[in-house]
Amino acid sequence: MNQRETLKVNELGHLEIGGVDCNCLREQYGTPLYVMDQDYIENICKVYADTLNAEYGEGMIAYASKAFSCLEIYRIVNKMGIGADSVSAGELFTANKAGFPMQKICFHGNNKSKSELKLALDYGVGYIVIDSYTEADDLETLCEQKNITQKVLIRTNPGVEAHTHHFVQTAKIDSKFGFSIESGDAENIVKYVNSKERLNLVGLHCHIGSQIFEEKSFILAIEKMTDFYKHLSDKYGIKFSVLNLGGGFGIWYADGDAKKTCNQYADYIKTIANSLKDCIAKKGLNKPYLILEPGRSIVGEAGITLYTAGRIKEIKGIKNYISIDGGMFDNPRYALYQAKYSVESALKMNAPKTVKYSIAGKCCESGDIIAEDVMLPQVNEGDLIAVLSTGAYNYSMASNYNRNFIPPVVMVKDGASRYIVKPQTFEDLIRNDI
Ligand SMILES: *Cc1c(COP(=O)(O)O)cnc(C)c1O
Repeated sequence: MNQRETLKVNELGHLEIGGVDCNCLREQYGTPLYVMDQDYIENICKVYADTLNAEYGEGMIAYASKAFSCLEIYRIVNKMGIGADSVSAGELFTANKAGFPMQKICFHGNNKSKSELKLALDYGVGYIVIDSYTEADDLETLCEQKNITQKVLIRTNPGVEAHTHHFVQTAKIDSKFGFSIESGDAENIVKYVNSKERLNLVGLHCHIGSQIFEEKSFILAIEKMTDFYKHLSDKYGIKFSVLNLGGGFGIWYADGDAKKTCNQYADYIKTIANSLKDCIAKKGLNKPYLILEPGRSIVGEAGITLYTAGRIKEIKGIKNYISIDGGMFDNPRYALYQAKYSVESALKMNAPKTVKYSIAGKCCESGDIIAEDVMLPQVNEGDLIAVLSTGAYNYSMASNYNRNFIPPVVMVKDGASRYIVKPQTFEDLIRNDI
């Protein structure tokens, strides 16, 4: 476990988050239950914003809200003074309802519809990140209709693709996102968008991957992006004032992942800031306004999911399955890409871990697994099970598969807890059925 003041084992040997014993959380709210640690989220927002400010200067941290989106998270990140990025009309609507300052939003997506683009303009979104020629055309038309201009970026591929502990450099990325710099595609769309009257092309965007630990991959991306800025400046006199380097900072999920404190997460920002400052000095570029878009690292470790152990199946010599009252409907990440998680027996935190289990969900899919081969103390029906680092891409990817309820979300802070997303009811399940 990546312990901290707000996620630790208490004197009863119980897991405690935000000063609240997980046993109390189960008694008050039931399971399955998402629990989010407000201090963690606030701390890391502050660390990111302060580090960007101190190490670089002009710029913005934009929380990638697809990681976890609901009214309260937009209120919290706004209170902490950072921006956001969103990828759908639904996320824009939620942010706006939460009173989020829409000029601090970057709007992304490889297939934004006309109505989504129109909504973004109506809300006065700060930046729209263009990812196709026809999108640029549609946006130009919509801006004409409204008689406005819109700040835009273009999504590019710098030819660096990074995932977890590895990164590779490729000449040409096969990706549904962005325009390759290497192939000349990016240069062509830059010229195209730059010629649009209503589109104010202020810079470029790239996002090289997710769950990245290798800081070298960010440095490499910065090299490529600033080379390209230099090239565009030399060849066309196009000078950009903004650079958006995306997100993707790796977090702790399980053994093998680096354990970091909130303050240590600042290292990603420091590395990026210093490498960018070096590059612009070396290449004689104007210092761009720097946007960074961490999502997972803001909410991931802040969240845990609590389940109750149900039926336990021993397949002699093969495997022990614990079936829990949740599954792929609240956490589809193992089923999607064998994501690793740490599992704890939340009321027996000090007991020796002697039995190997696989944690199975209750959905009608053999692939509905939450974690394979985790060591736990002997588990009995009714035991409280905690899965850690579930704050990102769990609730936001949840579904009502098998007509299970999407679990509610409880926020904890200073020993107190409150719903930020209410439980669903049977009526919710049939609300739109005719
Ligand atoms: C998903 C995404 C992010 C955030 O990635 P994390 O791995 O959650 O930090 C940032 N920017 C864009 C454009 C994204 O698609």
